[in-house]
Amino acid sequence: MSELLKNYLGGKWIAGTGAGTALFDPVLGDEIARVDATGLDLRAGFAFARETGGAALRAMTYRERAAMLAAAVKVLQGKRDDYYAIATANSGTVKNDSAVDIDGGIYTLSTYAKLGESLGDRHFLLDGEPTRLAKEPLFQSRHVLVPTRGLALFINAFNFPSWGLWEKAAPALLSGVPVVVKPATATAWLTQRMVRDVVEAGVLPAGALSVVCGSSAGLMDALEPFDVVSFTGSADTAAVIRSHPAVTQRSVRVNIEADSVNSALLLEGNAPGSEAFDLLAKEAAREMTQKSGQKCTAIRRIFVPEALYGAAAEAISARLAKTTIGNPRNEGVRMGALVSRAQLNAVREGLAHLQAQAETLHDGARHPLVDADAAVACIVGPTLLGARNAAGSDAGDRLHDTEVFGPVATLIPYRDAAHAQQLIARGQGSLVASLYGSDAKALADAAIELAPLHGRVHVISPDVAALHTGHGNVMPQSLHGGPGRAGGGEELGGLRALNFYHRRAAIQASTAALDHLA
Ligand code: NAP
Repeated sequence: MSELLKNYLGGKWIAGTGAGTALFDPVLGDEIARVDATGLDLRAGFAFARETGGAALRAMTYRERAAMLAAAVKVLQGKRDDYYAIATANSGTVKNDSAVDIDGGIYTLSTYAKLGESLGDRHFLLDGEPTRLAKEPLFQSRHVLVPTRGLALFINAFNFPSWGLWEKAAPALLSGVPVVVKPATATAWLTQRMVRDVVEAGVLPAGALSVVCGSSAGLMDALEPFDVVSFTGSADTAAVIRSHPAVTQRSVRVNIEADSVNSALLLEGNAPGSEAFDLLAKEAAREMTQKSGQKCTAIRRIFVPEALYGAAAEAISARLAKTTIGNPRNEGVRMGALVSRAQLNAVREGLAHLQAQAETLHDGARHPLVDADAAVACIVGPTLLGARNAAGSDAGDRLHDTEVFGPVATLIPYRDAAHAQQLIARGQGSLVASLYGSDAKALADAAIELAPLHGRVHVISPDVAALHTGHGNVMPQSLHGGPGRAGGGEELGGLRALNFYHRRAAIQASTAALDHLA
């Protein structure tokens, strides 16, 4: 039987008492580990995190906690090879795709270590200037941000077992708030190993970081009023979290990152052969195939002027055709697997659902598998669908509301700029949209039009062709999250991320007392 991964809670490594749930290699089909959270005393473990971990973290200054994050970065950097091996075995990703998760997570942590230094030797933050409350200037109000006295529970999705942990843990720990992470079962191994390495290195105080692998049962029940929960995953599970009594009755603060039907838009006036046109084709193909399309930020809808539909289909398909798919251990393979059989089935179903309203422009089923058995491996080729014409773009409701979490996108022709905006809005709020063009003013105008519907607008023009960070890459300096369907959450955005882990309070006092806060 495979190794049972232990949980770390209450400052101890604890094995679940049940049989456990198996984790599989999605390429070879082998069972590689098991997880189980049966029998854990979640309430006692959470109390330890709040009382022991929280108190120790809050006793440190922001600068000291920043140094603690930097020490965790060193530990993780020293074990990168182990993490790559786990990602290959458990997520079926090629090296470049594992890097997005592993190095992306470590980079985010190191960014917060640097940002934290700038906050200095303080134990709380000031928010704005003192404001006079009456005619007499002596009695004023000043807002402060103090670390919440609870813990931060992270319930994470399967596609980013490393980045999903560190992009949340970095601002939480820097804020002085202890973390309990519950990784998605299918890919829990990498999260568990990273927590283990950091805990064993002794760079964090006891109770600052815990991991529960396996069932989510009871996690929400164990939350108390000053705790926060940050969820990443499907809209259906998000609805369960939002309606839990911890949130509705105990006011546990909640952040939701859900699914999203993200867009890429080629502005009018960028003919085939222009740099902007080529940049769109390149980015669309890259986004479809990176991590086999299992990125919440991946491009799902590609909008082009109606007259360019054929040329765009050809340009993107030509790039997709070069994608070799199969066993990520083979050096020639560019795109690996989906994480599980359940995901393979979901992608196949989603694709069929879209194909009822779209034509297939590039068929992933035609890609041969390299070094992998089609009966076992959870691998699909990249598929580009298309809405044929602008009338099809209007009629195809599924194209605007179905997120197929795999290497699938739809090319959607639009009549004019207003039509494009209208169609993009049918996604009902997304994490990110990218724009392609060469007219700086037209790009800026379109970006502001799209901003209310997105957490991030990524604008690509020829002058930034070699510099831009990628449509789907989430940079710690920029906001991650989106309105409406995307969950309404906000993460990252530099030091803005710390707000979620702090409570804001107004201190009304004499100017002399307020001076002591500064
Ligand atoms: P999911 O099925 O909703 O699972 C997400 C997490 O919730 C897992 O850890 C899961 O645990 C847990 N969970 C399941 N039922 C629960 C319950 N009743 N109470 C508490 N927790 C529960 O989502 P997924 O399939 O892993 O993730 C894919 C989706 O995530 C995609 O739609 C993608 O767009 C979205 N996503 C969004 C972002 C973003 O930042 N916006 C990032 C990545 C992914 P188990 O695994 O043990 O079931």
